[in-house]
Amino acid sequence: MAKSGTRIPAMHRILEDESIAGYEAELGRERVRRAAEEIIGRARLSGERQGYDAIVAAVRKRLDDLSSTSPTAVINATGILLHTNLGRAPLSPDAVTAIADLGGRYSNLEYDLKTGERGSRNAVIGEALRACTGAEDALVVNNCAAAVFLVLDTFAKGREVIVARSQLVEIGGGFRLPEVLERTGVKLVEVGTTNRVYVEDFERALSPRTALLLRVHPSNYRIEGFTHEPSARDLAMLGRRAGVPVVEDLGSGALCDLAEYGTAHERTVQEAIGDGVALVTFSGDKLIGGPQAGIVAGRANLIARLRNNPLLRALRVGKLTIAALGATLRCYRGRAARERLPLYRKLAATLDELRERAKAYEKALPNASVGESVAYVGGGALPQASIASMAIAVPSERPQQLAASLRAGEPPIVTRIEGGRLLLDLRTIAPEEDHLVIASLLKIGRLTA
Ligand SMILES: *Cc1c(COP(=O)(O)O)cnc(C)c1O
Repeated sequence: MAKSGTRIPAMHRILEDESIAGYEAELGRERVRRAAEEIIGRARLSGERQGYDAIVAAVRKRLDDLSSTSPTAVINATGILLHTNLGRAPLSPDAVTAIADLGGRYSNLEYDLKTGERGSRNAVIGEALRACTGAEDALVVNNCAAAVFLVLDTFAKGREVIVARSQLVEIGGGFRLPEVLERTGVKLVEVGTTNRVYVEDFERALSPRTALLLRVHPSNYRIEGFTHEPSARDLAMLGRRAGVPVVEDLGSGALCDLAEYGTAHERTVQEAIGDGVALVTFSGDKLIGGPQAGIVAGRANLIARLRNNPLLRALRVGKLTIAALGATLRCYRGRAARERLPLYRKLAATLDELRERAKAYEKALPNASVGESVAYVGGGALPQASIASMAIAVPSERPQQLAASLRAGEPPIVTRIEGGRLLLDLRTIAPEEDHLVIASLLKIGRLTA
């Protein structure tokens, strides 16, 4: 190993370094050279002292990025459990095994083993969803946005959908309800005011052109104070009287009660079905804790119409998704979600358990301090769905730079900065990742000391 120096090393030395030269066969000499130029140029601009080892490591990192063909695993230290940018819910070991088992082999994905004829891709998973949700039938598509789209296209194209003005939301990632309605050729009929909407407002807006009454989970925002919204039950009653189906876009769609974990109760799929809503749409990778998917559950005759929509062909899920979702749903049997699903394991960790883990950090990092923090469910759960947590605060003059160093590490660690301090929230870090986080912090400490 070359000794760390203070001058920027020469290009040829870097290209000849044995840990760099190996990349040439894969990426070609020119791309390796350009990566090295980029890093050296950046080091010059920064005007900071960077040793040979640090520069070579940075070049290697850049080359790894260039040669990778898929996203890389990161450690989530943000305290946001369902972080859309970090891939939302980590899958359960059951789901991972199911993907490995089914992915590498043929399966009866669309094949009826009894008759030897073509079967339905949704048959088995539909049955599992019926059992979990209490709905008459269910269907899986690519994500919840696709589920909403399919519902609107099937029932409301060229007709009217009534929505409370207080629920005309943008869900993030550019999913704006009014625009989705427009794209599907649906006429939006807004009723009520931003803060107060009554079931009578829906009733007055009914017309022969009304296709659906739509209820949308407010997800990432909240209207407080002098507010009113019709209950799902009242809307369902109106829908039945008028012969118009009520659709509820739940988004996060829990199957169990989050209040049991000490956070705000989140409306469950079973509650929506129990309230008499005709169709519910929700995500597979939010509070279900499974793979990216969108689920429509509800009345059998309406699900049958969704199945007959040719658009379904474009929105259908692959076998890996079905395998993972099926295994995830199995985790809800016998209330095993708490043990088997990473999301619920993380939610279930007690403050004492987190405190105990924090001791390892305090011991290894004398500068760091441990304190209580607040973690969030995220992923379109209510904004107030928070849960007490513990975080490691790492002192730094430049927390942004420290955060960048942690992101550049192996594995990358994504943190949060709060009040000018860099925090690592223990609720989203898996206990088996603690030693990796500590090692990264120690390494960075040495590099900057
Ligand atoms: C998150 C969310 C969606 C979109 O779900 P995806 O699975 O990301 O497509 C739609 N509606 C609501 C209310 C949501 O919270």
